[in-house]
Amino acid sequence: MATYVVTGASRGIGLELVKQLLARGDVVVAAVRDPSKASNLNALNAANLHVIKLDVEKPETIKEAAATLEKQFSSIDCLINNAGVLGSLAKTSKADASDIAWVHKVNVLGPLAVTQALLPLIKKGKKKLIANISSTLGSIGDKEQYMENDDARRGNAFAVGGLAYKMSKAALNMQTMSLAAELKDDGITVICYCPGWVITDMGNSGSEAFDGKAAPTLSAEDSIKCQLKLIDSADLSKSGKYFAHTGEPLPW
Ligand code: NDP
Repeated sequence: MATYVVTGASRGIGLELVKQLLARGDVVVAAVRDPSKASNLNALNAANLHVIKLDVEKPETIKEAAATLEKQFSSIDCLINNAGVLGSLAKTSKADASDIAWVHKVNVLGPLAVTQALLPLIKKGKKKLIANISSTLGSIGDKEQYMENDDARRGNAFAVGGLAYKMSKAALNMQTMSLAAELKDDGITVICYCPGWVITDMGNSGSEAFDGKAAPTLSAEDSIKCQLKLIDSADLSKSGKYFAHTGEPLPW
């Protein structure tokens, strides 16, 4: 049994992570923007589930959440920075600066602030793991997405659009690498991974980039089964690395 904090736990991948962690007996802190509206979470009605308010865009809620957790828990084993937004899918030549700034606030500065606030508790944990949910769309090295594959199932539609999201996940990857280097001496593992193209609100929105001609086929349930294997196997030897949900390494 370990203690996990999952951000963005109200729906999609975050909610399914919470469900599967609870099912195997872990203690889960489900962080959501508005606990009163998290009916899916509240319906779980589990003794080892703690729902807290945390909006990654609002530093005061992060601070309050950290203070609450410090009172309730002596340590945290694993933080999963899952909360994220997709932003505009417009072509790069039409990318909007305010959209880019918002997506970075949520997807890059959010995980950084949550990690910084929870670090004292993570340092006291047994597993000492920070997992940042990234995306293959943040990979520069995965050229297949950009240049070498005309198959619409892959990233060609995203090759020309979704700049805010792609840049934000590339920045999150760098954050992962940088933190991993710094926290190694504290025994803290920091990884990032892509959950696959998953059937969620965000995953389904991604299909708009393909004019609906391609859609996600991976269920949240199956993705999370794989994610938990990756999380369970994560140790310092994997720190500073970027994975697919299957555990295969991804090119930066
Ligand atoms: P969803 O859009 O289904 O859910 C997003 C979650 O993030 C919601 O719980 C939402 O909360 C939360 N969230 C958004 N903004 C904030 C905020 N400011 N503070 C706190 N929580 C917030 O997305 P997914 O479940 O599909 O995505 C989860 C993660 O997986 C993201 O990081 C995403 O980039 C990544 N990912 C997803 C892929 C996919 O195919 N689905 C592919 C690759 C990566 P609320 O309900 O309050 O809006």
